[in-house]
Amino acid sequence: MKRYSAIALVAVIAFLFPAGADQESLQGFTPTSSAAEQQWETKYRALPDASKDLENDRRLSARPHHVGSPYDKDNAEWILANYKSWGWDAHIENFDVLMPTPKTRLLEMVEPTKFTAKLQEPALAVDPTSGQQSEQLPTYNAYSADGDVTAPLVYVNFGVPDDYDQLDRLGVSVKGAIVIARYGGSWRGVKPKVAAEHGAVGCIIYSDPHEDGYNEDDVFPKGPMRPPDGVQRGSVMDFASYSPGDPLTPGIGATKDAKRLTLKDDIAITKIPTLPISYGDAQPLLAALTGPMSPAAWHGSLAIPYHVGPGAAKVHLVMKSNWDMKTLYDVIAKLPGSDQPDEWVIRGNHHDAWVNGAEDPVSGQAALLEEARSLGALWQEGWRPKRTIIYCSWDGEEEGLLGSTEWAEAHDKELQQRAVAYLNSDSNGRGYFDVGGSASLARFITGVARDVQDPESHVSAYQRRVDMELARAHSEEDRKEIRGRADLHLGPLGSGSDYSAFLDHLGIASLNLGYGGEGDGGIYHSVYDDFYWYTHFSDTDFMYGRALAQTAGTAVMRLADADLLPFEFTDFADTIHTYLKEVKKLADDSRDEALERDKELDDGVFSAINDPRHPKVAPPREAIPPHLNFAPLDDAADALTRSAQRFHSALAKAWPAGVPPATLQDLNQKLIQSERRLTTEQGILRRSWYRHMIDAPGVYSGYGAKTMPGVREAIEQKHWDEADSEIVRLAKVLQAESALIDSASADLEPASH
Ligand SMILES: [Zn+2]
Repeated sequence: MKRYSAIALVAVIAFLFPAGADQESLQGFTPTSSAAEQQWETKYRALPDASKDLENDRRLSARPHHVGSPYDKDNAEWILANYKSWGWDAHIENFDVLMPTPKTRLLEMVEPTKFTAKLQEPALAVDPTSGQQSEQLPTYNAYSADGDVTAPLVYVNFGVPDDYDQLDRLGVSVKGAIVIARYGGSWRGVKPKVAAEHGAVGCIIYSDPHEDGYNEDDVFPKGPMRPPDGVQRGSVMDFASYSPGDPLTPGIGATKDAKRLTLKDDIAITKIPTLPISYGDAQPLLAALTGPMSPAAWHGSLAIPYHVGPGAAKVHLVMKSNWDMKTLYDVIAKLPGSDQPDEWVIRGNHHDAWVNGAEDPVSGQAALLEEARSLGALWQEGWRPKRTIIYCSWDGEEEGLLGSTEWAEAHDKELQQRAVAYLNSDSNGRGYFDVGGSASLARFITGVARDVQDPESHVSAYQRRVDMELARAHSEEDRKEIRGRADLHLGPLGSGSDYSAFLDHLGIASLNLGYGGEGDGGIYHSVYDDFYWYTHFSDTDFMYGRALAQTAGTAVMRLADADLLPFEFTDFADTIHTYLKEVKKLADDSRDEALERDKELDDGVFSAINDPRHPKVAPPREAIPPHLNFAPLDDAADALTRSAQRFHSALAKAWPAGVPPATLQDLNQKLIQSERRLTTEQGILRRSWYRHMIDAPGVYSGYGAKTMPGVREAIEQKHWDEADSEIVRLAKVLQAESALIDSASADLEPASH
């Protein structure tokens, strides 16, 4: 297709003009401005220093620093002083948010034997910060409802809706029960939500060694994986159904005098008490279960038969929180734009952690600070970005993206006007470059990744990423697709880090960047995510921290300096076609499945194969899904492809001759608005905080993105009329996007000059 020839052409140019002789201009730059930019960028990439990155990490992770702790504030003030010393105009912005901390936690088995869970991660002699117990937040799930319940225990695998369908087939109900779910398979907050919807009265979430324990590698401190008493803390706020951020101030900044909901209102906390535990604590509970055997796919790596229950095991769960208000410390730093000060390029990573957090988030924050130091040094040398650059060190990400959401809500009007893009990171490690986000920036970030060297292989970060994808591809077709693609494939973001308010709520084009995939571990949200673990098992010499600083800093500079913002829409149009194919297949598959199930019921298949010693209930008959009318979306997606190609060729023709400054300014405004056009005022049905119509977190998957969420979730939840109306609504959004791109093309085409 078209882009095969584009790649071939680039290859020829590169062959005729080897690097250094006559470099190709950067996307969005003229030959002159490109040469200047490349000089500054080359200087920049020599500045981030791995040893400074390491010292940043050591300092920020030296003590526990969750929201409301003394060291959280101390870190924020240290970060602020640094920004200022590097020449940035910086300040701390405070918000007051609801942040529950545990008051009472108890989990005991009362039948058939007595066992009390430890709920405590032990200090390890080799690991100096693991013993800072007076400052550590106990193991808990923030925003769990208060409760004191005693009930039979039922094992529900990952606790996602499909697992409950399987339980139905086993004839097991969780009504009145306490469920025990393992981490994985969904965002953790989905587990208590679905459990409560099925009538459970309590929810325990444990880390099975299958996911991040000895099934993977040696456990800490011998290896990187989760030890028997390691616990994953984490928020269970139902942000996907409500909104992230402070639950008392949805949609508005949680400033001192903001109008607040109360705890009695319908807010994003769980309906049932929820507590996370280690596999050390989970093993006796699971081992005591009787009742049917669970399906094979439900078996973890503990040396027990994974029975489902209920039977024998009865547990007593108490969870009570102090429902206090805590102050957030967002550190915001600016370098003013020389040319277009009202166009903002925003970069962020959170600084708060569950405990010490040397990996999450400090490995990302430490790199971000190296970027800020290096950009400050370039400024001293005379570099002046065209656009304003804003660096954000967020607080309160862990509890529910609190700091970034409150800041974005407090500044929503300005951001909608001015934000060019938001670049996020959240932790970093050794391995491959990874990027997700707005497809209109795929070409841009691919260009950046081509200019950064991977520290281990010394090929570009882009090349190593593509080679890894090729090596891991499962089919010839996949390999062909990877080789044929000009740009990196950007997965959708959904939610789960600080880009959510920017992308999902305000429609600001966003990217999430990081390295990882070599040397993963099992210390996530535990006391063992600390400097000792990170410097023994992850990016021990911070060379990938340096690579992240080089990558993200280059991206920030290039966005801030470009003459024409480097948005591009053919990748976006391709992505829309891919999503459309997926939702059509989803609709077809659900109809085929229903037809097949009914046929098998008619033919008596379920009763014929039923094992009387392990009886199963036949699935219920359901209405056959109707055919949906996808025509409006097909038309809109095709229109988008045409508009994207028109813009591409209009630009290719107009650019070499030079585009007048007034036209450029108008074009940049349109490009800035291109992601906003994907939002609607009404937002997604039943969760209007989410306004982006292409990307949202899934109500039943949590962080996992649901693309075309209105259409997709209507199909998944079998709301057929709604699916048809959502198709029409989404088609209108895409048509408006096409119209915007067309008007940008018209600015570039000869007749309009
Ligand atoms: Zn994080």
